[in-house]
Amino acid sequence: KIGKCFKIVFSSSACVYGASEIMPVSEQNAVGPINPYGTTKLVVEHLLTDMCACSNAEEKWGAMMLRYFNPIGCHDSGILGEDPQGVPNNLMPYIQRVAMGEIDKLSIFGDNYNTPDGTGIRDYVHVMDLAQGHVLALGKLLHSPLTDKATIINLGTGKGTSVMELLKTFEHEGDLKIPYQICGRRQGDCAELYCNASRAASELQWTATRTIKDMCRDQINRIRYLNKHSADI
Ligand code: UDP
Repeated sequence: KIGKCFKIVFSSSACVYGASEIMPVSEQNAVGPINPYGTTKLVVEHLLTDMCACSNAEEKWGAMMLRYFNPIGCHDSGILGEDPQGVPNNLMPYIQRVAMGEIDKLSIFGDNYNTPDGTGIRDYVHVMDLAQGHVLALGKLLHSPLTDKATIINLGTGKGTSVMELLKTFEHEGDLKIPYQICGRRQGDCAELYCNASRAASELQWTATRTIKDMCRDQINRIRYLNKHSADI
């Protein structure tokens, strides 16, 4: 019935952690977003947590707050996915636009981080894995007794990949070259951010199954689809 929805799956984000010192990041790590986007995610997490705490017999609130790490990739058909416009902020949409010949080259924001190849490390997770995480979260909210009525869960692979590793895998999967230049660090970027995904495994029986190679291959399929259908879109 309208107005009787008390179970919510919320798309939160790893950016609530800000520049966390402790890796991998688990849900108990301190939060401290460094931009307004991260703050909005945290505010909604607090609201939902309060709503659940104030539940009563008629209004039994339940919330799963899923902290996404770095979602990339698309449906493997290439039909469902991003079509970034303008100058993207995030890495994969930027690579996509360069691969499509719409931007000349990628700017890599820093190669002097304390990481094996000097470029930033993130926990990239395939959007189809994320989608499955949502289905499991909703199923759990609707059908199982919850350990907590408001639950925060990291959705990531638990593995870090550098900008350079992602770029090389993309080039390999697409059999193409992405021109790039090394630039200064982007303000607010941390060297590395990857998660401890054990709560997702224990609460949702969810583990990301798709690799960086899968993510790049599907993104290439997306580009091929967009190139083929550009006149119809
Ligand atoms: N990055 C980059 N060039 C870009 C966009 C991002 O080198 O045009 C780097 C960025 O410094 C970070 C990684 O790619 O190390 C992921 O950045 P993104 O913005 O996609 O995710 P976030 O930093 O928000 O986790």
